[in-house]
Amino acid sequence: MQLLKGHRFRLDLAESQTEFCSRTAGICRFVWNLALEQRSMAWKHGRHHAGYNAQAGELAELKGLAPWIAEAPHHCLQQTLRDLDTAFQNFFAGRAAYPTFRKRFQKDSFRFPDPKQFKVDEVRQQIKLPKLGWVPYRNGKGRHALKLHGTIKSVTVAREGQHWFASILCEAEVAEPVPVLGPAVGIDLGVAQAITLSSGQEPIQIPGMTKAESRRLARIQRAFARKQRGSINRAKARTRLAEFQARIARRRRDAVHKATTMLAKSHSLVVIEDLRIKGMTKAPAARPDPEQEGHFLPNGAAAKAGLNKAILDKGWGEIRRQLEYKCRWYGSRLVAVPPAYTSQECSACHHTEAGNRTTQAEFLCLRCGHAENADTNAAKNILSKGTADGPSVSACGARASVGRRSRKVAA
Ligand SMILES: [Zn+2]
Repeated sequence: MQLLKGHRFRLDLAESQTEFCSRTAGICRFVWNLALEQRSMAWKHGRHHAGYNAQAGELAELKGLAPWIAEAPHHCLQQTLRDLDTAFQNFFAGRAAYPTFRKRFQKDSFRFPDPKQFKVDEVRQQIKLPKLGWVPYRNGKGRHALKLHGTIKSVTVAREGQHWFASILCEAEVAEPVPVLGPAVGIDLGVAQAITLSSGQEPIQIPGMTKAESRRLARIQRAFARKQRGSINRAKARTRLAEFQARIARRRRDAVHKATTMLAKSHSLVVIEDLRIKGMTKAPAARPDPEQEGHFLPNGAAAKAGLNKAILDKGWGEIRRQLEYKCRWYGSRLVAVPPAYTSQECSACHHTEAGNRTTQAEFLCLRCGHAENADTNAAKNILSKGTADGPSVSACGARASVGRRSRKVAA
């Protein structure tokens, strides 16, 4: 089977190369924001569709108006428009939230999509990129060095903290993996505890920020805001801020990779909820309008925004993306089931009622008295939805009647 795999290496850039990367990322960000605005306007007025082809066709005209745009490689600009197009397709399909404007120093990146344009010298650990020339990258020594397999499809250059990284995407033909022999597992992606397993084992925590770290972040942000624009001290404060955020991001990424690898490697079947991010997070209409002064969020909207943030912080989309390729990679099966009622259904007798869930953490069935951690109960429901031969009705019914009787006795 054909498999796509990405590898990320830190680049050792010369000063002029760093400058080129910052500049190119800046131009791509400008083009992204401009194209996003054009699309949003088109959407508002008459639903005229400003698609990829139309926007790519206007690039030449744009370069005439603002010649500095031509400093960025043309392929990277086209790719930016293509990425925006994908972001919109994901939004329309309900897989992602509405695309947002990019800010400076926030996800600075650009992509080279043409495999003919770059070369990788794995022995000398360097990569040749258009306009940048040969750039050394960091890899392990000897047998610890990561090896690339297959053909390189694209290279994305991105800044994280104060360093630049290259993500090299390779496509390789690999043998079908031997199917994993292991139990099936259902997982519930919660806001509070990240990943809860149907097996009832300790939930896998995806660390966010601790309270102390949140305070530290606020302090660094305040210090940054106080510095005068364009000053050296502001640049220093920005570096500190970026380093801090990058460290949190690294820790999260590491935890998510470990969790998804464990799930895919040791289970024959992994069942997740087919979460439509669109349904849970804000729709574009509900966004605060920055042009409107004195805009207030209605009551409840702020709480919802907090929840949105928590959901997106946990990176559910990313967990699913990783499970999709890792399950293929290790030879297990991934099934996504509709999320309806998984939190209200009793995993023992399948009685479904909103009142079953007494608190955020506790589940208590009103029919059979089955009590369990609410997330574990949901994970079990997700698992039984995903297995064709789920729990047999008789076994469940028997358990249910016992529970009912005992509850009556207790009452
Ligand atoms: Zn029950």
